Amino acid sequence: MNQRLQGKNVLITGASSGIGEACARHFAQAGSNLMLAARRQERLSSLKQELEAKHPAIKISTFELDVRVKAKVDAAIEHFGPVDILINNAGLVIGLDKLEDITEDSVDTMIDTNVKGLVFMTQAVLPGMRQRNRGHIINVGSVAGQQAYKNGTIYCASKAAVASITRALMHETIDTAIRISEINPGLVETEFSVVRFRGDKNRADSVYQGVVPLNGDDIAEIIIFTASRPEHVNIAEMLVFPTNQA
Ligand code: NDP
Repeated sequence: MNQRLQGKNVLITGASSGIGEACARHFAQAGSNLMLAARRQERLSSLKQELEAKHPAIKISTFELDVRVKAKVDAAIEHFGPVDILINNAGLVIGLDKLEDITEDSVDTMIDTNVKGLVFMTQAVLPGMRQRNRGHIINVGSVAGQQAYKNGTIYCASKAAVASITRALMHETIDTAIRISEINPGLVETEFSVVRFRGDKNRADSVYQGVVPLNGDDIAEIIIFTASRPEHVNIAEMLVFPTNQA
């Protein structure tokens, strides 16, 4: 239980795996109510069932959500009700290709999910947060938004956009008690790499050679720390690496 997080309504996008799923477990442990969103509803349902059994005092609701579709995002907020903490976590990378080889579809998928999806989610929760003059939006960016790397053009650009949006939004909410934060992980071993290589597990695993990667819990703990600072403290951004990454 965490006094500052107990009873808070926490919306997590991409809660069906990896960092988002780990966040759901950690916020449940802290006593927060969970609003879990992702496309894979069956994953959300089994997570809900498991966490309800472990934490009967908290409320958990789920919504089958594709963050790329603004109307679905608005319907999700309608379904969930007031949000105290939004974890803008849904995101992906498709392929690691030279710019001239990236397909239009891959460009659209990354920009629509990582940038437009985050914008739609933020637009949907901000009016309520402004009305209540409280709330916390925590964006999951990436080291890729801070350091561009070979064959990462569009993904890096999408995460650089997350960094810019976070900073601009801090200015837009400067006269409110709303906090805006960005957590930027380095290598985290999740399904992310499998998605990146379109299901090729061997290529996915090769990414972690020579590194002891972070796991979802490592980032969820940082997010819990960020969300549970006193209300006058905002962790604007944090870069979190595995020890063997620089
Ligand atoms: P996972 O692949 O395990 O999780 C990604 C989550 O995003 C899934 O729950 C997926 O759910 C959801 N998602 C993807 N597309 C959509 C969509 N259109 N609508 C709604 N949900 C969507 O990877 P991670 O947990 O590692 O990734 C979480 C975040 O962390 C991402 O933003 C990623 O960019 C970032 N990150 C990851 C790093 C890593 O090394 N793993 C490093 C730095 C940042 P579903 O498919 O069910 O919709």
